[in-house]
Amino acid sequence: MTDTKQKREPSWIEVQEVVRKARSASIPGPSGVPYIVYKRCPQLLRHLWKCLRVIWRKGRIAKQWRYAEGVWIPKEENSINISQFRVTSLVSVEGKIFFSILSRRITEFLFKNNYIDTSVQKGGIPGVPGCLEHTGVITQLIREAREGKGDFTVLWLDLANAYGSIPHNLIVLALQQHGKYGSIESPGIQRWQQLAYRCEQAENGVQKNHWKWQRQGAWTKWDNVQQRKITWADIWKDFHRIRFLVQTVYDVLPSPANLHVWGKSETPSCPLCSGRGSLKHLLSSCPKSLGEGRYRWHHDQVLKAVAESIATAIKAIKGHHHKPKTIKFLRAGEKAHPQPRVKIGLLATATDWQLEVDLDKRLKIPTRITSTQLRPDMIIVSNSTKQLILLELTVSWEERMDEANERKRAKYQELVEECRRQGWQTRCEPLEVGCRGFAGRSLCKAFRLLGVTGEAKRKAIRSATEAAERATRWLWIKRAEPWAVAAGTQAGV
Ligand SMILES: [Zn+2]
Repeated sequence: MTDTKQKREPSWIEVQEVVRKARSASIPGPSGVPYIVYKRCPQLLRHLWKCLRVIWRKGRIAKQWRYAEGVWIPKEENSINISQFRVTSLVSVEGKIFFSILSRRITEFLFKNNYIDTSVQKGGIPGVPGCLEHTGVITQLIREAREGKGDFTVLWLDLANAYGSIPHNLIVLALQQHGKYGSIESPGIQRWQQLAYRCEQAENGVQKNHWKWQRQGAWTKWDNVQQRKITWADIWKDFHRIRFLVQTVYDVLPSPANLHVWGKSETPSCPLCSGRGSLKHLLSSCPKSLGEGRYRWHHDQVLKAVAESIATAIKAIKGHHHKPKTIKFLRAGEKAHPQPRVKIGLLATATDWQLEVDLDKRLKIPTRITSTQLRPDMIIVSNSTKQLILLELTVSWEERMDEANERKRAKYQELVEECRRQGWQTRCEPLEVGCRGFAGRSLCKAFRLLGVTGEAKRKAIRSATEAAERATRWLWIKRAEPWAVAAGTQAGV
């Protein structure tokens, strides 16, 4: 990178990029302005951009940006004691945008000059989930040691107040020695050291931010994707499955495209078509696979799982309604067992729900409601209450879930309105499950809407995501085989 390039003022594109990638749900810092304001008001962002350029030129950071608000966040569930919390600093969004640009430039500089060895350094590298990569390596080593009955020593080091214990002057020194980073260090890093710290121990702050912060720890940067928990027990129990999952998520499977990059094959082509055989292509966008029905099959595996969960919920509701009411008498001193939670949600509003799924027979919206060529994946009808729920499932590449949701919603909008005109209370819920086994938030939302909550909801989501994961594994194994044969042996999945 040339000296002039790193010194240039922040560009409009850089500013937009930072704001676009920022999470809307991030809690605003002392300025009280959340990212969403800048996301929605480009005009305002333009003004901010002008300010950022002036600040960059003058090399003086606004005083307000140097203030951080300390918020206590729980380290574990049901935290009560103050030692179970740690403080995190909230900085004003305006300053965060500025520092993000600075940090991107420094990262770019370090990468271009090969100052970072990514085989050792995993944290803080864009696109590299540090913890999981380290965990993966260590798991593999432990496993090898176990199998080979060898000795193995792991040293875990946990720094107390890791960030606070960094000698910041050392960073400046290292940058100066490595490559004369130029004037950027003056507006940025040195001012960082002057960050004033205001600690607010307000208890309501702790409560209020608890749930928000839980979401901040999302596993990846995918939007609207439900987080998955993988425990050590999972890793031990089903090592190959988890390894495959991790490999698909980080795109390190030997796909034709990767093999080509690794210098192990002549061509990156897909085994079925002439396209570039990336994992994304193989699992979600190969025209030949689409034509052969591979993706339809994948979709139907997940659909089956979702439909089974909904059928179970409908059955439970019916059973619940038919159960005769009994009065339980208590002996003196005996404690009453807590009543089962009152069922809420759409399914609780009728007892004659009929679920139809577009699997074995062609699903059609009953002509008594309306006549249409559209065939959603599932319909749930209650004749007595004149309610209709349309569910449309998309199994897509995780990054494309939002797009799929909007597309499907638009596709069915007219039909929904028509059904409503016919006097039916109608809802259409597009659901997404990622092909690598991650549930879209839309899936959780739909279950909640139906009244499938708590353990039942967790089970339903698990069954859908596991179905997606299993089917993906099958598609991967059979990627170069004729589908007619592979589909015929699918029972082996
Ligand atoms: Zn292809």
